[in-house]
Amino acid sequence: MSNPYPLGLRLAGLRVVVVGGGAVATRRVPALLDAGADVLLVSPELTPALRAHVDAGRLRWEPRRFAPGDLDGAWLVQAAVDDPAAAAVVSDAAAERRIFCVRADDRAAATAWTPAVTRHGPVTVAVLGGGDPRRAMSVRDAVRALLSAGQHPGATPPAAQEGAGGAPRRSGAVEGGGPAAGRVALVGAGPGDPELITVKGWRLLTEADVVVADRLVPGLLLDELRPDVELVDASKIPYGPSRAQEEINRILVDRALAGAFVVRLKGGDPYVFGRGGEELLACAAAGVPVTVVPGVTSSIAAPAAAGVPVTHRAVAHDFTVVSGHLAPDSPASLVRWEALAGLRGTLVILMGLKNLAAITETLIAHGRPAGTPAAVVQEGTTGGQRSLRSTLGAVAADVLAAGLRPPAVVVVGDVVGTLDG
Ligand code: SAH
Repeated sequence: MSNPYPLGLRLAGLRVVVVGGGAVATRRVPALLDAGADVLLVSPELTPALRAHVDAGRLRWEPRRFAPGDLDGAWLVQAAVDDPAAAAVVSDAAAERRIFCVRADDRAAATAWTPAVTRHGPVTVAVLGGGDPRRAMSVRDAVRALLSAGQHPGATPPAAQEGAGGAPRRSGAVEGGGPAAGRVALVGAGPGDPELITVKGWRLLTEADVVVADRLVPGLLLDELRPDVELVDASKIPYGPSRAQEEINRILVDRALAGAFVVRLKGGDPYVFGRGGEELLACAAAGVPVTVVPGVTSSIAAPAAAGVPVTHRAVAHDFTVVSGHLAPDSPASLVRWEALAGLRGTLVILMGLKNLAAITETLIAHGRPAGTPAAVVQEGTTGGQRSLRSTLGAVAADVLAAGLRPPAVVVVGDVVGTLDG
């Protein structure tokens, strides 16, 4: 058999016909839609996932069997049917019209093969296994592992993608006489388990020239950075919290203006009590482009790691995340604790250990029953996770007795205990 000729098809706005509405079509359609293809699906029946695409108006559906005329105007056809006779009708009609045809039923009879694919930002890797899809997938998996480990010399950082076209990779490098365009990404590192960073966050981390990390960022993520990456530990910056924040903003802006791709890595989600907004504004004011990559927030993940769902059917239809870093009677507090006391759902308190006695007393004084279940989770999702179960009335004393320390979340509500067997 002769070798296939690899191509990247640019399908935006071009008609692609998919024949069949089962599992194969369900798997093929998303990539076609992602490529912007004008998809016509011909099949008497559809899987629920395909029907959802139809309902959302992402593709056109002809609810009937294939007719050769369906291919008029098409650039590509996917015969995603099991029945070889039906697939042969499709491929014959395609050959007559000089349209490439991918066949799910019979690779040998197809004029085109779909490769095993992995995507890594702007890079798409497509692997053909000489007609053996399992071989293609295992090579693809190996390449994906290599890419996500950041071990690829040719990676293009976002600084180069969206800044000056084709800007060189390293900090401060110049092209065409001007400085390379730097960028900042505010990346949520997740709650503690290094595997709970997002795929995108991890990719940007592997591409960074400079990483500015918080105290709560999982150390194992930093452990894996390339040796040439400049690591700035934001928790080591002296001065008070507001001066330190100004200093962080200055570091982000200065490094980016010098051409670096700076990843600001923050615990949990950057916008949940993470001062991500201030950093975004500082970069924007300096004309530095910023990308924000959301993270898995400890406010949901730490309770989950201790077996507490923040919502549960027929138990809680709302959850509220609140900072307890100021005491309820502090003039600077923006939280209406008396109003929170009137809610029935789940209350998740971050940074609340220091003021926990005052917080729980205030909630009880304004009507939340003292017997409401409560849980505290310290260092959730990490190897050091500790947690306890209590009630609103007793939790402050129980935390002291157990010696729990920050970082910890307190979760109050009937969801605590719902999953206990
Ligand atoms: N942006 C972070 C929160 C920053 S505020 C997020 O989205 O998770 C810091 C507080 O978050 C800590 O005081 C603690 O209340 C909570 N926190 C962060 N990581 C935690 C963890 N692994 N377990 C429990 N609480 C955590």
